[in-house]
Amino acid sequence: MIEVKHLEKTYKGIRVLKNITCKIEKKDKVAIIGPSGAGKSTFLRCLNLLERPDSGKIFLDGVEITDEKVDLKEVRQKMNMVFQYFNLFENKTVLENITLAPIKLKNVSKEKATIKALELLDKVGLKSKRNYKPRQLSGGQKQRIAILRSIAMNPKVILFDEPTSSLDPEMTDEVLKVIKDLTKSDITLICVTHEINFAKSMANKIIFMDKGSILKEGSPEEIFNCEDNERIKNFLTKSY
Ligand code: ADP
Repeated sequence: MIEVKHLEKTYKGIRVLKNITCKIEKKDKVAIIGPSGAGKSTFLRCLNLLERPDSGKIFLDGVEITDEKVDLKEVRQKMNMVFQYFNLFENKTVLENITLAPIKLKNVSKEKATIKALELLDKVGLKSKRNYKPRQLSGGQKQRIAILRSIAMNPKVILFDEPTSSLDPEMTDEVLKVIKDLTKSDITLICVTHEINFAKSMANKIIFMDKGSILKEGSPEEIFNCEDNERIKNFLTKSY
């Protein structure tokens, strides 16, 4: 479903993505792990073209999305991003945050969008907060709303960029639970995370990045029981 071929990205003369090539299948739940500065977030941002790669190609369902003529809005509706710092609309209510994009971009009626949003809010126990503004919510609540906002668009893929790194442990757990529940759905998930235990429990595929390259990819067993790569072994030992 997603095919990445020879992706390169350079910032100020430093190659932060080096020949990234990989395939992600429909419904895959992928965790991207590795040391800080490895290029994980840059790779994720290139996937939905928040960053333009310098060269290389990305295909989504056989369509080359790195082609200049491709409609970026359409790509981002199919491949939605959940950010580290939520990016909610501060002047809109929780309900409006979730319904805005389906109404504006997908022509869903306000009534239908509201019913769906309330259903989603109910599932995560936040229905009572529907008329709150983001500033009245905790970080964990904000991130759960950001995830619901993404789900409400019916995307094929959700990209998570370190979704819990700005949260304390309790809030982290409540957000990870929502993402874990999503692993039962058909949505393809790609999550950059430093929560190694979470990566182990949510993913059917792990991509380990280091210094701009994919060092190894495989099933959680292949990565977490990896004996043949000192770099990965070292990183994982320090992460627990
Ligand atoms: P990770 O997510 O693995 O921590 P990043 O993708 O955030 O890594 O960063 C990879 C490298 O690219 C780092 O050296 C970082 O400083 C650099 N980098 C990331 N974004 C930018 C940018 N917008 N401008 C310049 N350098 C950047």
